[in-house]
Parts: sequence; structure tokens; C-alpha cells
Amino acid sequence: MMAAIEAARAGRRTVLLEKHQRPGLKILISGGGRCNLTTTRQGADLEAQYGTERGRFLRHALRSFPPPQLRAFIEQAGVPLQEEDLEKLFPVSQRARDVVDALLGQLQQSGAELRLGWPVTGVQRTEAGFVVTTPRGPVAARSLILATGGLSYPKTGATGDGYGFCRGLGHSITATFPALAPLPVDAPWVHALQGIVLQDAAIASYDATGKLRTQRRRPILFTHKGLSGPAPMDLAGDVEEAVGHGGVRFDFVPDASLEQLEADWLAAAKTHGSRRIESVLPAHLPERLRHTLCELAAATGTLAIWSRAQRKQLLAVLKDLRLPVARSLGYDHAEVTRGGVDLAEIDPRTMQSRRCPGLFVCGELLDVDGPIGGFNFQAAFATGRLAGRSC
Ligand SMILES: Cc1cc2nc3c(=O)[nH]c(=O)nc-3n(C[C@H](O)[C@H](O)[C@H](O)COP(=O)(O)OP(=O)(O)OC[C@H]3O[C@@H](n4cnc5c(N)ncnc54)[C@H](O)[C@@H]3O)c2cc1C
Repeated sequence: MMAAIEAARAGRRTVLLEKHQRPGLKILISGGGRCNLTTTRQGADLEAQYGTERGRFLRHALRSFPPPQLRAFIEQAGVPLQEEDLEKLFPVSQRARDVVDALLGQLQQSGAELRLGWPVTGVQRTEAGFVVTTPRGPVAARSLILATGGLSYPKTGATGDGYGFCRGLGHSITATFPALAPLPVDAPWVHALQGIVLQDAAIASYDATGKLRTQRRRPILFTHKGLSGPAPMDLAGDVEEAVGHGGVRFDFVPDASLEQLEADWLAAAKTHGSRRIESVLPAHLPERLRHTLCELAAATGTLAIWSRAQRKQLLAVLKDLRLPVARSLGYDHAEVTRGGVDLAEIDPRTMQSRRCPGLFVCGELLDVDGPIGGFNFQAAFATGRLAGRSC
């Protein structure tokens, strides 16, 4: 929709083909029906959220349409936003529908023609440009913007059609994985902590070699099936990429070093030998978690009889607890797709294909994904706008 608005505003005769009868379905279900449209993060910090290479690719798009400009665009269209936790921006009305309605209003004003219930089934390059095949007949165009999204939540229309179209036009598609999804785990200790939310622990993904990849200090939610909440969901893409050989590592007290903790514990053992070992664990951790950590480290008894080996074991559980995670809950629960059209084949200043002049690719169809917090919409709107302006 953003690409079509910009193309039409730039004076191009624009037709937007949407397979669904309802446009913007993902916006409607986003952010729990409230739409976390963007973030208050900016500049290099914003770019870094997508990783080094993807952030570099997005630099031009994000700098030409940064979060404050996306905010101004949607606010001028009648939807004021407000900041909430984790630097997220939501409509004050708390209604994602308002965002879709605002986009539809802008689309109508721009003069772009919206055709709902027009699934694209094929795309061909011709001398004059492109011919798009649909069950309702062909559509010819000088330029073509593909914005068909990824593979996650297929019920919304995102079934990966764009990958096939792009391949047919000479593009490579990098391996795709579900990302931003809850993590199912079998460990009974996790299930037993159901309902606990840790606000300030650190959790990191590790790969098949055991190397840490992404670390997050955001809320972690324990559920009867595994791990959810922003931090574990942010790690789902890494877990999927490790194809059954990765997992997550907890650091329950990221602000305390191993040395500091050990020194404190030794001092406590000297002065309060009759206390139970559990008493050395930080009081801000929920009681149920403290019990669990002691169980996992087999730390029973009092501080006076605590052996060095046992102490090391509790330190390891507290600062470096590793949990194998084979996969995430998959595309039906993934907010975004990792992987997509190879960024090396797209000009980051225009979103034009380097393989097929006149073709533009934007949004989640690209090999771009960000963490939870409005980063995926921000990237989709910024690349969509650039594609619309450049086509
Ligand atoms: C449950 C959920 C919650 C989310 N919450 C947030 C959030 O709060 N903040 C955030 O930043 N991101 C969120 N995301 C991610 C965000 O929705 C996507 O990254 C974003 O929508 C991608 O935009 P897009 O335009 O590239 O693709 P999409 O929004 O998927 O749009 C693609 C469109 O193309 C249409 N289409 C596909 N194939 C064809 C075809 N062959 N012919 C015609 N039309 C076709 C589809 O029907 C669809 O309308 C969430 C995602 C999900 C699933």
C-alpha cells in the first residue's frame, strides 16, 4: 500500500493487485490487534537492530523514511501514536484498524487503483515491461513492484508467492526460516515456571558450535509449552537457522560478574553458615525460579557445608544455563520470515532489481527481518516508499 501510494503520488498510473478481499490483514492482527507501527529508536541504533549487513542495506531506506517520518505520515492521516514499553509506538486508539483505514484513505487520495481479490499467479518480463497473470486476466505494466510478504501467518495471504516470481525473473532467494515465534521446549523445569515473567534477565541464542549469536535483555515469559515474550521470540530465527543443533542460554543476573558473585557467596558462607544455599540467590528473582535454579545445580543444604564444586555449579546455572531448543513454533506462529530475496541483487537506494530492470522488491519479501518492536513494519514501509518513489 505504501509503495502504491508513493508511485501514484509521483504521477505513475498505479494498480495495486491484492489477492485478499481485505487489504492489510497483517496490520490488523499485529501487536495483538493494536499495531506496533514503529519504534522511537533511530539512526545507527535503529539500523543495528537488523544486524550488520541487513542494517547496511536498509540504511538509505531508513534514513530517507525514519521512524519520526512514518509517525508523521500516519498521524497526518488521522492516527495519532503514543510510545509504550520497549520504545514501541502504537495508535492512541489502540486499534490496528485505524492504521489500515488511514492507508486506504491515502491510497484513494493518491489516485492508485486498488483491486481486491486479484491474486497474481505469474509474472513475465516483456519488451515493454511486465505482464502479470491473474485469474481475472493479464495486467501489463512498465514497472513492477513486488510486495507479497514472506511465509509467516499464511492465512493472511503471505504464502511466499513472491519468491517464485523473483526466482523466475533471475533472483536468488536465501534460505527462509520462521522468526519471531515462541520456542517450545521439553524441559519440565521450564513448564513448572509457567506464568513467570523475567523483566531483566539476559537470554542469548547459541548455534551448533555453541557460539553465542544474539543476546536480548527484554521480558522472558515461561509458559506451559516453553518460552515466549519478546526476548525468546527474538531468538527464534537463530534457533531455526541452527536446524536442531542450537538453543538458548540464560544469564539470570547479567549485571553481576561470576567473580563478584563468588566473592559475595564466600563472604556469606563465612558469616551466615547456617543459612540455606538458596539464600545467596538474588532476592529480585522470583522464589519459584530460585528453587528451580538450586534444584538444577543440586545445591541443597547450608552454606557452611557448601563445596567449591557445588558453588561452581550454581554459578554456572545462574550465569550460563543452556537449554537446547530444536525449533520454534513455526510459520503459523512466526511474526516474520527470515531470509528472502538476496540483498546483493537489489539496489538499496531504489529497491530496484539489479537482475531485472524495472522490477522493484520491498518489504518482508526481501532478506530482511528485525526484532519485535515495530522494526518489521518500519523496514516494510521505508523500503515500500522507496520502491514507489523510484519506479
Ligand atoms: C501476528 C503478527 C503480528 C505482527 N506484529 C507486528 C508489529 O506489531 N510490528 C511490526 O513491526 N511487525 C509486526 N509483524 C510483522 C509485519 O506484519 C510484517 O513484517 C509486515 O506486514 C510485512 O509487510 P509486507 O507488506 O512486506 O507483507 P505483508 O504485510 O505480508 O503483505 C503482503 C500482501 O501481499 C498479498 N499477496 C501475497 N501474495 C500475493 C499474490 N500472489 N497476489 C496478490 N497479492 C498477494 C498478501 O495478501 C498481503 O496483503 C507482525 C506479524 C504477524 C504475523
